Amino acid sequence: MKLTIFGTGYVGLVQAAVMAEVGHDVLCMDIDQAKIEQLQQGQVGIYEPGLAELVREGVAAGHLRFTHDVAEAVQHGAVQFIAVGTPPGPDGGADLSGVFAVAEGIARHRSEPVIIVEKSTVPVGTGDRLKAHIEAQLAHSGKRLEFTIVSNPEFLKEGSALNDCRRPDRIILGGEDEAALDLMREIYAPFNRNHDRILCMNLRSAELTKYAANCMLATKISFINQIAELAENLGADIEAIRKGIGADPRIGYHFIYPGCGYGGSCFPKDIKALIHTAQEAGCGSDLLQAVEAVNERQKRKLFQRIHAYYQGDLKGRTFALWGLAFKPNTDDMRDAPSRELMESLWAAGAKVRAYDPEAMAEAQRIYGHDERLALMGTPEAVLPGADALVICTEWQVFKAPDFELIKRQLRAPVIFDGRNLYDPQRLARKGIHYFAIGRGESL
Ligand code: NAD
Repeated sequence: MKLTIFGTGYVGLVQAAVMAEVGHDVLCMDIDQAKIEQLQQGQVGIYEPGLAELVREGVAAGHLRFTHDVAEAVQHGAVQFIAVGTPPGPDGGADLSGVFAVAEGIARHRSEPVIIVEKSTVPVGTGDRLKAHIEAQLAHSGKRLEFTIVSNPEFLKEGSALNDCRRPDRIILGGEDEAALDLMREIYAPFNRNHDRILCMNLRSAELTKYAANCMLATKISFINQIAELAENLGADIEAIRKGIGADPRIGYHFIYPGCGYGGSCFPKDIKALIHTAQEAGCGSDLLQAVEAVNERQKRKLFQRIHAYYQGDLKGRTFALWGLAFKPNTDDMRDAPSRELMESLWAAGAKVRAYDPEAMAEAQRIYGHDERLALMGTPEAVLPGADALVICTEWQVFKAPDFELIKRQLRAPVIFDGRNLYDPQRLARKGIHYFAIGRGESL
């Protein structure tokens, strides 16, 4: 089937690659010309395990192409996926300018019937607004176009995105047009063989399902972080508590890891957007606001702890940092806790020497050649002479380090761990002053 995908970011490019892999004829369009030129030369600018190879295979098989030309993209697909970014606007609501720009391009350049798929995360009611917007544009230009809008939110996780798309937990399809939904079923049939994962619902329910899912996950994280704060102050150990509550199948072990806060391109913006939607609808958003407030506090926790430990005397100090990405197996640093930490340390007059297995180029892109940030080639290279080691991301490579080496290399054996990677008792026995989240010894 001929598919067009607008937006070649984490969602659009992964979707395009897995759709091309099963034989669909995919044309991707992005307004970022440099990105398209890179992709045309087989270079993938984002890190996602297996993605670069799959994109190259798709191109070689002739199933995957890239263009910067809107008209060409719009004329290609019988089904057109909008997978552009929907960042937060100034009032917290989602900025839909990219989504509407794509819709306008479709209205202008398409004459054959088309299904327009909302793949981006968009607020409830966007599908109806898009429909009205396209109809107004068609009326204005005196054009006729047969089109349908389907909501098909994406649930992939950065770091395991290919697997998530090849074997999704569920495929949500929202819309009222049975023929369009049937065509979507056909497109997704290769990903729906083992058992039926497709859930059809109305457009608005599908749009809200995506927000509800992300906000539920963010709620779990803020919940455990709030309990971690209590544990810390009451002499309890959050890691024991986590296992104790996770054993209850109604709670489960997933997504109740305490830490230095959630980040990334989705949870922070989706919580904000749903608060905005709730307020517009005259509904309560108190729980969501609390989730956001707890997370904001949690993201400051590492810095506050460091500040307290050195009694505010941070000027001239150097901190070794492990982990820049907002989570492991990605190079994405959008809203990452590491950024909050580094920027606070710099403001206090300290410097940072950092290592991340994948996000170094992204850090360089964001901060340029800032002399307060040194990016080093190995985890060990950040250590010599640093005042302490700080951990922001739970990459595998940080999980069993050589503690004797850490002790020898740091100026003093101190670790501030935002991801609870180590056993406090063991580290105490090794003579390391270790601060984790919710594990006693609060500062
Ligand atoms: P991204 O920022 O990585 O990529 C978005 C791409 O869209 C960019 O390459 C940008 O140049 C392009 N773009 C912007 N306006 C355009 C236009 N008018 N025409 C063509 N291309 C345009 O974003 P992402 O992380 O892939 O997220 C895309 C959407 O999917 C967002 O709504 C996001 O909330 C949602 N989502 C993201 C994830 C995730 O883990 N990243 C998961 C599920 C859903």
